[in-house]
Amino acid sequence: MDYTSMTKEELLEVVSDLKILNDQLLLEQRQSTDLNYSWTGNLGHWYWHVPTNKVICNPHKLSALGFDISEVPNPLTYQFFTDRLHPDDHEMTMTAMLDHMYHGTKVYEVEYRILCKDGSYRWFYDRGSITKRDKSGKPVFLAGIVFDITDRKEKQKQLEQDNIVLLEKTRKDEMTGIQNHRAVVEFLNDQMAISIQTKQPLSVAMIDIDDFKKVNDQYGHVVGDEVLRQTAQIIADSVRETDLVGRYGGEEYLVVFSQTKKRDAEKVLSRILSKIREFQYEQGFCVTVSAGISQYNNETLSEFVARADKCMYEAKKAGKDRIFFD
Ligand code: GH3
Ligand code: MG
Ligand code: MG
Repeated sequence: MDYTSMTKEELLEVVSDLKILNDQLLLEQRQSTDLNYSWTGNLGHWYWHVPTNKVICNPHKLSALGFDISEVPNPLTYQFFTDRLHPDDHEMTMTAMLDHMYHGTKVYEVEYRILCKDGSYRWFYDRGSITKRDKSGKPVFLAGIVFDITDRKEKQKQLEQDNIVLLEKTRKDEMTGIQNHRAVVEFLNDQMAISIQTKQPLSVAMIDIDDFKKVNDQYGHVVGDEVLRQTAQIIADSVRETDLVGRYGGEEYLVVFSQTKKRDAEKVLSRILSKIREFQYEQGFCVTVSAGISQYNNETLSEFVARADKCMYEAKKAGKDRIFFD
């Protein structure tokens, strides 16, 4: 059709007809999206005319955000959505769009949160590409499809939290509430690597309850268990946040003193031994512990722990309730 010979009125009529046709086509496309692509969360297509900054989107996206079509600016702009992006997602989303428009990435593909009318955020998966460029190669039209992925994201977040709880459980000694053998060994491994790298000192202490068998024999296992818990608590409360105490065996505890020389570890242990010695149980008895300390010497983990263990046995042989180090 030759538009050049038309009067303004005739042109306006053409524009009006085209608008009606456009609306009709969009409606049909929306219905076909619902029928043919009823994938979970599918909110249909969007189109962006870059020179006029006009955005046409399936009203599903607006209703997902809690808006009625009558409540949003007409025409819709790209900024209507980007102004509502979650602050943590804003930069990444804009970069993805600019990279696609001007720096050659094949598609625009992002996950972001948008502020809804009620103040909450919903997650979207958005994917699109340039469908038309001008003569100089600049983008004129973009088209894409958007999904509401809020449910998936929430499930994923819940799973991640569950995983943290589960992981925490696998590292804890159920009876005493301190870390278990596996966790303390893992921590020690990491600390050894740090010590090699930074040349900072590292010490471990093996602590063993003296004559614990007698406690069990005399007061029973329930009381024995209480002694194990109380001893663990005293040790855990006496070390720094950067140290770690774990139940190494039945009535043995391993303390990892990060960035600590054996002489300094001994000072802490000496306080621990006093506190344990002075703690009186309901039944009127007290217990003592013996401890051995070793300072890291670029050996293997087993050799490092064995040296502390050996010192602990020396302390037992020398009369118990004391600390030995090599
Ligand atoms: P020593 O001073 O030489 O260390 O003597 P001990 O009696 O403490 O050492 P021994 O190795 O002979 O006994 C350790 C006891 O710890 C034996 C075992 O029944 C007890 N034990 C180990 N784990 C648990 C536990 O979870 N609960 C209780 N109640 N007792 C435990
Ligand atoms: Mg023992
Ligand atoms: Mg013992």
